[in-house]
Amino acid sequence: MTRDDVRALLRPNIARLTPYSTARDDYKGSLGVFLDANESPYPTGFNRYPDPHQKVLKSRLSEIKGLPVENIFIGNGSDEAIDMVFRVFCNPGVDNVVAIAPSYGMYSVCAAINDIALREVLLEEDFSLDTDKLLRACDEHTKAIFLCSPNNPSGNAFPREQLIEIVRRSGAMVIVDEAYVDFSEIPSIRKEVLSEPNLIVYQTLSKAWGMAGLRLGLAFADEEVIARFSQVKYPYNISALTQKTVLEALQKPIDAQVKEIVTERARVAKALEGMPCVKNVYPSQANFLLVKVSDADALYDALVKEGVIVRNRSRVPLCKQCLRITIGLKEENEKMLATVKSFK
Ligand code: PMP
Repeated sequence: MTRDDVRALLRPNIARLTPYSTARDDYKGSLGVFLDANESPYPTGFNRYPDPHQKVLKSRLSEIKGLPVENIFIGNGSDEAIDMVFRVFCNPGVDNVVAIAPSYGMYSVCAAINDIALREVLLEEDFSLDTDKLLRACDEHTKAIFLCSPNNPSGNAFPREQLIEIVRRSGAMVIVDEAYVDFSEIPSIRKEVLSEPNLIVYQTLSKAWGMAGLRLGLAFADEEVIARFSQVKYPYNISALTQKTVLEALQKPIDAQVKEIVTERARVAKALEGMPCVKNVYPSQANFLLVKVSDADALYDALVKEGVIVRNRSRVPLCKQCLRITIGLKEENEKMLATVKSFK
């Protein structure tokens, strides 16, 4: 796809949009007298609006992620970046999006909120993806395809070549949600956004980086797509407190903790495999395991009784009798394992 092709996918009202601008965009220094934004002049630590462009934070993320700042969007969680695709590309009541199933629930919720039809393409029994089946579900009103790799809740990652093939053959925007990529052996495809104008890659600081409470998600895409996202977002979508706290937290490397989760994932999987009520532990590239058991509802209740909360995915396509279990601290995993082991 070319940039012109992507421009043709934009909602006409967004292509015509005059975005909100702040007077502070005209001033480059930091010691001015700011009488432009009707703020309080009394210092509380937070009396000034935050930087709407998140310049300092973006420049640090640009170093970490190896992509220019122009290719990075910062959202209030990746959930904001997911919503952005609908608001920028999809005409309510007219367009549709295609998503794999089972997958992350927010794609369908955002579609419903924006009055966009969602076409679900079922994965295969082993959670692999049939490219032709996926592309056959698209028509001239399909504006986006949502893929998630490693996928939630199945835990598997799709081969890089397959994702690139889908991007190249698709006439729509292709979203690859990499929320769990830090736990995966398959590396991120984010750098492909430099040569594929219809590719959008999501990552988040909520998982491996341990900042779910701060709400910070990332989208990587061609600079024209990022520019549109930036025009459509609320001007001050990332608070001053979040920008400052994340910047500090990014100093600390996460490699050791990620390694620990991956090691613990293998240990927990092995322990579960030998237990009487466990029928299958699906291979995982994420920080959770999808586990098929003899009676998911009953085991879920038994775990709750012990104060262990997991996710019951039993009613999700292809996940009958499955629980999704996050890898926690060793002692937390031990408590979960003890309950599963004693479950009759
Ligand atoms: N994408 C996937 C696949 C997820 O599983 C989740 C959260 N469970 C998110 C995105 C949301 O991430 P964030 O906290 O950045 O909104």
